Amino acid sequence: MNERRTLVVTVAGVVLFATLLALGQKGLAWASAIAALTLLCLTTPLSLSLQIGLGALLGVIAGLFPESGVEEIRIVGRIFIAMLKMLIVPMILFSITAGIAEMGSVTQLGRVGSRTLGLYFLTMAVAVATGLLIVNLVEPGTDGTLRSTEFFATHAGTGSTSLPDELALGPFLSRTIFQVLNNPFASIAEGRILPVVFFAILLGIGLVQVGDAARPLVDLVRAGYAVVMRIIGWVLKFTPIGIFALLAHLVASVGLEPLIDNLLSFALVVIGGTLFHATVTLPAFAYFLASVGPGELFRGLREALLVALSTSSSVATLPVTTRCVEENLGVRRSVSSFVLPLGATVNMDGTALYEAVAAIFIAHVYGIELSLSAQAVVFFVAMLMATGAPGIPSAGMVTMIVVLESVGLPAEAIGLLIPIDRLLDTIRTMANVEGDAVVALIVSRQTPEG
Ligand code: ASP
Repeated sequence: MNERRTLVVTVAGVVLFATLLALGQKGLAWASAIAALTLLCLTTPLSLSLQIGLGALLGVIAGLFPESGVEEIRIVGRIFIAMLKMLIVPMILFSITAGIAEMGSVTQLGRVGSRTLGLYFLTMAVAVATGLLIVNLVEPGTDGTLRSTEFFATHAGTGSTSLPDELALGPFLSRTIFQVLNNPFASIAEGRILPVVFFAILLGIGLVQVGDAARPLVDLVRAGYAVVMRIIGWVLKFTPIGIFALLAHLVASVGLEPLIDNLLSFALVVIGGTLFHATVTLPAFAYFLASVGPGELFRGLREALLVALSTSSSVATLPVTTRCVEENLGVRRSVSSFVLPLGATVNMDGTALYEAVAAIFIAHVYGIELSLSAQAVVFFVAMLMATGAPGIPSAGMVTMIVVLESVGLPAEAIGLLIPIDRLLDTIRTMANVEGDAVVALIVSRQTPEG
C-alpha cells in the first residue's frame, strides 16, 4: 500500500472511530478501530518491531480512557492468545524432530550427539537455576499493587497459597512418566505437550538411525517445519494488534503506574540474570572445558552476538555463528555443522531463564506462593519449553503459555509480559547463540578428530 492509501485508511479509521464513539456506539467504534489497525498492519512497510512498539503505545493510550468502552476489545487479545496456542503442538513437534533429524549420521549422533545434548541441558539447567535464584531474591511482582486490581483479582491466590498437591514435584514426576508414554497421536490431538516433546525426540533419533530408508519422512518433517515457521510468521504479523488489545485492557483495569513499577523490576531481573549467564557462566564453561579465555571468546563471537541482538533469531544468526566459531575459534566443521543447527532449535539458555523467571513473576503478581517443588516443576518445564521453541523472534512467548499453565497460572497473564517481550527477546537470543557457540567449542576441543 502506498503512503497515500495508508494515510486515507488512518484518517478514515480515526473519523469513523470518533463518530461512532460520539454516537455512543462504543462496541462498533472499537470494532472499526481494530479493523483499520489490522488493515494497516497487514499492508504497512514499517518493520514488525516498530509496529509492535506502536501497537503497545496505542494500547497504553487507549487503556488510559476506560470510559471509552475499551474493555470491549478484550476479545481481540484473547483471540491472539488462542492463535499462539494453536501453534504450540505443531511448532514443538517439527522443531525438535527436524533439529535432531538434521544430525546427519548415526556416528555423529552417538559420539558427538550425547556430549552435545548433555552440555545443552547442563548449560540450560544452570541458566534456569540462576534465574530462579535471582527472582527469589529480588521478588518482583510481590508488592501486591497489581493483585488488588480487577484484572488479576479474578485468579488471585490468598497470599500464602501454595500450589495444590497434585502440582508438587513427586506426583508431578510420576504422573509425567505415564503421561509421556501415551499414544503420541492422542497427545498431539489433545495438545498435551510433554508426550509430544518426548515423541519428537524419539522420532528424530529414529529418523537418524534408519538413515536412507527414512529420507522421505525426513523431507516431510523438514517441509513441515518450514510450513509451520511460515504460519508462525503470519500469526506474528498480528502481534501489534494483539499487544494493542491486551495492553489496552490491562492498563484500563490495572492503571499505568503499578504496571510500570512491576514490569521494570521483572525486566531488570531477566536482564541481570541473562547477562550474568552470558558474561560469567558461559565464559567459565569455555575457560574450564575448552581453555578459551573470555577475551578470546567475546572477540571471536562479537559479530554473531550483535546479529543475534538485532535479529532476535538464533536461526537467522546461524550462518554468522558458524563462521565465527569456525574462523575465529577454530571449531572443526564436522562439529559445528552438527552442533550449531541443533543448538539453534533446541538449546536456549536465555529463553529457559526467561520462562522460569516470568512464571515466578506472574505467580507473585497473582499472590501465589510457589513452593520449592512447584518451582522445580517450573525449572523442568521451562527447560523443556525452551527446547521446544524454535529459534525465531518471540518463539519463547508462545511456549511461555505452557510454562504458566503447568503451574496453574492463566495463559492470559502473558498479556503482562508481551509488552516487553520483544525487548527481552534481543538479550535472551544473544545468550542462546552464545550458549550454542560455547557448546560447539567444548565439543570440538574434547572430541578427537576423525
Ligand atoms: N528469539 C529466540 C531465539 O531465536 C527464541 C525466543 O523467543 O526465546 O533464540
